[in-house]
Amino acid sequence: QKEITRLPSWLKTPIPDSSNYKKIKNDLRGLNLHTVCEEARCPNISDCWGGSSKSQATATIMLMGDTCTRGCRFCSVKTSKAPPPLDPHEPEHTAEALSRWGLGYVVLTSVDRDDLADGGAKHFAETVMKIKSKAPGMLVECLTGDYAGDLEMVSLVARSGLDVYAHNVETVEALTPQVRDRRAKFRQSLAVLEAAKAARPGLITKTSIMLGLGEDEEQLWATLRELRRIDVDVVTFGQYMRPTKRHMPVHEYVTPEAFELWRQRALDMGFLYCASGPLVRSSYKAGEAFIENVLK
Ligand code: SF4
Ligand code: SF4
Repeated sequence: QKEITRLPSWLKTPIPDSSNYKKIKNDLRGLNLHTVCEEARCPNISDCWGGSSKSQATATIMLMGDTCTRGCRFCSVKTSKAPPPLDPHEPEHTAEALSRWGLGYVVLTSVDRDDLADGGAKHFAETVMKIKSKAPGMLVECLTGDYAGDLEMVSLVARSGLDVYAHNVETVEALTPQVRDRRAKFRQSLAVLEAAKAARPGLITKTSIMLGLGEDEEQLWATLRELRRIDVDVVTFGQYMRPTKRHMPVHEYVTPEAFELWRQRALDMGFLYCASGPLVRSSYKAGEAFIENVLK
């Protein structure tokens, strides 16, 4: 596959200014939370953490360690067959820290833990329950793995009291075997999203798709139709960025205009809302979007 090395102008973003980082560090001091926002130096941090008000501010927290049992070809998280055991105090500590921070919206995500019998589902669910008891007003989104197709585990998490169940299909069906770990299947991911909705009808479900991996328009249309068929409410589109030379090359840098076109198309198909842009990540301003589109 041909490699594109030159970065288009719309991806050259200024590094968030240091005063903002200082404020973030101050907020987080002593809370012992692992935010993806900070650790990945996400370019959206001022938009998400700043928000229009603290009640809409969004942050993403990583649970269950930093080592994944899978190895997707777009992802830079480290991999091992046997990551360290879970910290049994993490649900309690996370809930306590989040309630002190006082955010409006939190996204909980994790590595995949195929080494655990329940894939970490009980740990996830316990964290949500503890957050809801310590900070009842906080909106919680869980971005989970596929639990190796164990839909009972999906159901368990979906019934834990969360507000949004997110699971990413990442790409179109034809490219899935080249992009995701071999254990991640497109149809299995659809089944996860469908099971979450069935576990709690009315629950908002959400998925994300990376563009620029070599997908074509017809494949994207087909993906969106599949997602609407199983009543997925929210979709986001972002540009695939290659983390290192060992990862899949970028096939194309999709223009901001094309992202806007897909956003319109998704809304026309009946998705409740859609964030779409070169720098969009699945959690991009998720709090603001939820409050403006679901709670209104
Ligand atoms: Fe954090 Fe996600 Fe926003 Fe980036 S897009 S700052 S990871 S909440
Ligand atoms: Fe990365 Fe998630 Fe794939 Fe693990 S399952 S390698 S964390 S994308």
